[in-house]
Order: sequence, then structure tokens, then C-alpha cells
Amino acid sequence: MASPRIPDELLKNEELIKELEAIAKDAALMNGVLMRTKDSPNSSETVNYAPFTLFPSRVPKVLFNQAIDISTHFNRLIDRVSHSPHFLEEALASTIKVDNFTAKLFNIYRQVQQEPLDMAIMLTLNRSDYMIDHADGKDTLKQIEINTFAASFGGLSTSTPNVHRHILKVANLLEESKLILDNNPAAGLAKGLALAWELYGSKRAVVMFLVEDVQRNIYDHRYVENELWARNIRVIRRQFEDVSKSGFLDKNKRLFVDGQEIAIVYFRNGYMPQNYKSEESWEARLMIERSSAVKCPDISTHLVGTKKVQQELARPGVLETFFPDEPETVAQIRATFAGLYSLDMGEEGDKNVAMALAKPDQYVLKPQREGGGNNIYGDEIRCVLERMKNSTERTAYILMNKIQPKPICNYLCREGDPLKPKMCCSELGAFGVYVRRGTEVLMNECVGHLLRTKSVEHADGGVAAGVAVLDNPLLI
Ligand code: ADP
Ligand code: MG
Ligand code: MG
Repeated sequence: MASPRIPDELLKNEELIKELEAIAKDAALMNGVLMRTKDSPNSSETVNYAPFTLFPSRVPKVLFNQAIDISTHFNRLIDRVSHSPHFLEEALASTIKVDNFTAKLFNIYRQVQQEPLDMAIMLTLNRSDYMIDHADGKDTLKQIEINTFAASFGGLSTSTPNVHRHILKVANLLEESKLILDNNPAAGLAKGLALAWELYGSKRAVVMFLVEDVQRNIYDHRYVENELWARNIRVIRRQFEDVSKSGFLDKNKRLFVDGQEIAIVYFRNGYMPQNYKSEESWEARLMIERSSAVKCPDISTHLVGTKKVQQELARPGVLETFFPDEPETVAQIRATFAGLYSLDMGEEGDKNVAMALAKPDQYVLKPQREGGGNNIYGDEIRCVLERMKNSTERTAYILMNKIQPKPICNYLCREGDPLKPKMCCSELGAFGVYVRRGTEVLMNECVGHLLRTKSVEHADGGVAAGVAVLDNPLLI
């Protein structure tokens, strides 16, 4: 077969697109690609499909495989960095002076460093995200960031392949439909959780999903939850407030919430300042971190996911310190790094500020925030940097080369949005799972992928932020 693609005639056939739209939305609902609505985010009485592309998006097979293959290296890197207090202290020293949120996290980190646990179990569920850069006319895989905290859509992306397979069949693209990969991150994430639960070693202890008060994306969680229930592992969902009210540590530092012993705290909330509604929420976070429950992630792994750490890891010679005997691993990881630049005070930072001011379109300015919608682009970079260029305020940010993917036409199915052809670009994520106890690594796997696609009109991304939508790779 010729290189698989969605033919232009089809993309322009308005009548057929309308027909496919209706079929696709039903298929999404019937396959469980679901989200609660904006108007009633805490009720399952009214539910809609989660936003998704009408067609899968072409992704070069070699780059897809590169992202999957490198995942286990990133799992190990996260582990090593999270256990390098000296590196974390230095990497975040300038940031925590000006960024109150990171400083609060770092405070908790310092406190728990004083009271290490014996044989602590480490469980990391992460997602490394990439875009395919086409700036020099050739495609290369470039990392956007690693999410070590609450990496989402491992659940819903289990069900999107069936939607795209169905649509391609209806569109008379049977061969293409066979190319849509199976994907089941939820099972892999649950496998890691189940393994850590077993290592914790108490049959009556439960897994606690730490969740927010607005729970629109609950079905994504439920996929993972239900995999745990299928293994007869009990799951409860609680908020920081619940931990504040009833949580305590016994003399062995076992964590109890509502009278139940907690084996694992799986954070799906707690990555944004506004997630901590009061000082009590911070105290609850500290209690959890001090406990012998498995934290997914623990506070040090949370910090490894900051943009500042990402930028410091990209400095020449740094990866080598984490993999002293593995030049091949270092080369593979480094090949995915885009240009990353420090804005710390001093000559180097001044030079980087000047570079961004000269060509703001070529960079992204990033604060230490998660969840989409926080980055600064283009002319706004100029305004923001002009304002803070001589102030330590700038050290709350890092600068990154802007990745320039080649846009392709697709349709984004989203509640309330009339369907229109849009030039789009995609972001590929690889889910990594890592479990270690003492010196024994018990799981180090890539458990699946996520493709998200957005219109090029938007610089920033994020499905929860209402910009990107769920997609599947059509490997070419
Ligand atoms: P967050 O933690 O908020 O998801 P990201 O670093 O992933 O932060 O940035 C959010 C979005 O901004 C990404 O999903 C992507 O669409 C866009 N973006 C981030 N970095 C770059 C970059 N270097 N080049 C192009 N787009 C980027
Ligand atoms: Mg991101
Ligand atoms: Mg992120």
C-alpha cells in the first residue's frame, strides 16, 4: 500500500465529513471515551464524549519507536535525579527564591530528607511528551517535558483506537484502519500500582486516589481504578480536605484516612498552587510525604518534573553524571532535547535574555507550572522579559527553543464546536512505569502512548485546558 494517509478528497468532502462526525461521536460514547460536562463536572447524570480528532494523525514509525524505546531510560533518569539531593538543591536554588509554589514543595522535600524511610518503595507513573520538529526540513523527535505528577489520559487513550478504526472503515480506508495500534496504558499503570501495593504488604490497605474537587476527567481515572478493583485491590478517592480532617500517622508512620490504612497515595491533584486551598492542604501533603505509604510520585520525583530541572539536565556533561558508564544511554536521551536555556542572574542568563528578545518567535518562556496554558510565546515574551530582565523574577522561568512541527489538516470534535478543517500539530506521549524497592528494580516499562492534537492557532496545549484533543498515531 502507498504511504498511509487520509486522502485530500475525503478531507474536503463536507457531506461525508458531516456523516462521519455523527458516527464518530457515537463511537466515542459507545467506546467509553467520556468526560463530564463543564456545567456539571461532578455529576455523571450528564456526560459527553471527550474531545478527539475525527481522523488519526500521521506519525513516522521510527520516531514513534524512538519515543517508546527511550522511555525506560527516562524512568531510570527520574529515579537517579530524584535521589540526588545535591543536584536538586543546586538546580532549584534560584527558582525557589522567587517561585513560592516550588519553594513550598521544596520545603516539604527538605523536611522529609531529614527522616528517611527504610526500604521505601518507589513508584513512578510518568509521561514523557514530544513533538516532531520540522524546522530544518527533516523530522526529529524533541521532548517537550516529562510529567512525573498526575500524567493523565492513560485511561481514555485505551479506548480511542477503536473509534478511529471504526471511522476509517466507514470512510472506506480499511487498510489504514488496520494500522491503528492497540494501546492500553491503563492496564500498565495499574500493573505498577498493583505491584507497589503488594510490596507494601498489607491486604487490608487501600489505594487512595488524591483528587480535586472538580472531577470532570473522572472516567480517565476510573479506567485505572477499575483495573485495580479487577485485581481485588480496594480504591478510595479523597481530597486534601479529607486527609486534613481524618488523616493521621501511627507510631510506625503508617497513614490512615477515614480509618483505612493507605498503601499508596496516587496523586491526581496537587500540581497547581490553587490545588492547595489552605495551609491545611499543605499540612496534609506533608503528612502524606512523611508517611510510609507509597507516594506516586514522592516529593522528590515531583520536583524532578519541574521545567527548571529539565533545563539543568540539558546542560553539557550533566546526563553523564547520572549515567557514567552508559554513553549510549546519554546519547539517546540527549538526542531528544531541544535547546533549553537558564535565565539565572549573571552573564549566561543575560545572554539568554538578549537572545530571546532578539527573536521571540523562536522560543517559549516557561514558568514552573503544569496543566497547560501557562507558557509565554512570541511578542508576549518580549513584554514579559523587558519588564523583568534585570530582576530575579526571571529565574522563576526557563527558556526553550520553540519546536516547529509540520501542520496537517484534521477536524477536532469538541462539545459545542462546529466542525471545521483545521491545520493541526500533534504531541506524542510515552507512559513510563517504574517500581523499585531498595536496590531492586521490579518494573521498568513503557506501558503505552498518547497522541494529542491541537489547532496551530493555539501556541499552548493541554486537553484539560480545552485546547488539545485525543488522537491516535497513524504510523507511516
Ligand atoms: P504543561 O506542563 O503545562 O503541559 P508544557 O511544557 O507541556 O507544559 O507546555 C504546554 C504546551 O505548550 C505543550 O503541550 C505544547 O503544545 C506547547 N509547548 C511547550 N513547549 C513547547 C516548545 N518548546 N515548542 C512548541 N510548543 C511547546
Ligand atoms: Mg505538557
Ligand atoms: Mg506538564
